[in-house]
Amino acid sequence: MARKAACGMLEQRVKELEERLRIAEQELEKKDRQIEEHFIKTNASVMETELARIELNQIFNAATDGMWIVDDQFNVVKINNVLIALLGMGLSDGVGKKCYDLFQGSLCHSDDCPMKMILKGKKQVESDIERKSGDHVNSFILTASRYRGLDGGLLGMVESFKDITERKRIAADLQKANQELHRLAIIDGLTQIANRRRFDECLTQEWVRMARGKSSLSIIMCDVDCFKLYNDHYGHLLGDVCLSSVSHAIDHCAKRPADLAARYGGEEFVVLLPNTNAEGAVFIAESIRLKVQDLMIDHAVSPVHKYVTLSLGVSSVIPEYNSNPQILLEASDSALYEAKRAGRNQVSVKPIGASDLRLHFQKNA
Ligand code: GH3
Ligand code: MG
Ligand code: MG
Repeated sequence: MARKAACGMLEQRVKELEERLRIAEQELEKKDRQIEEHFIKTNASVMETELARIELNQIFNAATDGMWIVDDQFNVVKINNVLIALLGMGLSDGVGKKCYDLFQGSLCHSDDCPMKMILKGKKQVESDIERKSGDHVNSFILTASRYRGLDGGLLGMVESFKDITERKRIAADLQKANQELHRLAIIDGLTQIANRRRFDECLTQEWVRMARGKSSLSIIMCDVDCFKLYNDHYGHLLGDVCLSSVSHAIDHCAKRPADLAARYGGEEFVVLLPNTNAEGAVFIAESIRLKVQDLMIDHAVSPVHKYVTLSLGVSSVIPEYNSNPQILLEASDSALYEAKRAGRNQVSVKPIGASDLRLHFQKNA
């Protein structure tokens, strides 16, 4: 009887233990499943992180501009291929180095350093910078913006560099070409002094400027004597050489910065003399006449002199607003005619008074 009871208790105990084992196994299975699920989730997030990293790398390296991420201690955290190539170094040379050691740009160590400005609270910094590398200077447009961590805290900056060296070079070439074009438009091809167009521009400007300052404006009209005979005797080519030499002699005598010697056309030259009265202009005209004669350019068939000479007509006026500079040209032309008529190789002057100016003004009204 007692043995039967003991067997019954044992059976009961075995059942309990079997039940506990079953529960333990169930729990173990559940834990296994949980671990597996967790493992799958972790794997997925690792994959996502890796994908995000790959995507970021692709975007970073697909950019046509140089880019890097720099932490608040100026250490380079990430750098793209364009910037690596631009700085002429290997990938391993970049990450972990100080940005200012790698770039050495014009803003490094200055108060305008983009990182300093970002750390001071600026959201974005845009700036033109230059970087010297050997004999080359490269120009960039730099854009820096905040680099934040997951918690939104400021970690440093993301900086991009647009290389505008080529663009700047083309712009400089274009400016040079335009300047040359402008120079050609105002220079006489044969003599390389100012042309008539330039003279007309300056005459208009100086007329107004002298009227404002109530100061004298003078011009000297110069004409080579018997130049047709010169050409006929020496030929057109030597005629050109002669005109070139004469032009330089005239130009040499127009010394002040605002003075202008120009080829007026054919064998005629004109000199514009701001802030110069008739007396001063006659003095300069006479020095031009002597200078040209002193060139001693043979003129074997001239009835005037054995060398090439000039006749010169001088006119001078204090311009008034609303009057026309034409009066000055007409007066110097008539003075030149007078010099020719009186025997050439000389200076003649025709001053213009206030009444002439008024008369002229009425004529033009
Ligand atoms: P005048 O003393 O009265 O001024 O007589 P001139 O012979 O100098 O004047 P004219 O107007 O009769 O002749 C001017 C000459 O200048 C005729 C023309 O062939 C010459 N000439 C004009 N332009 C040039 C040029 O660019 N080169 C050369 N070689 N000759 C030129
Ligand atoms: Mg002439
Ligand atoms: Mg002449």
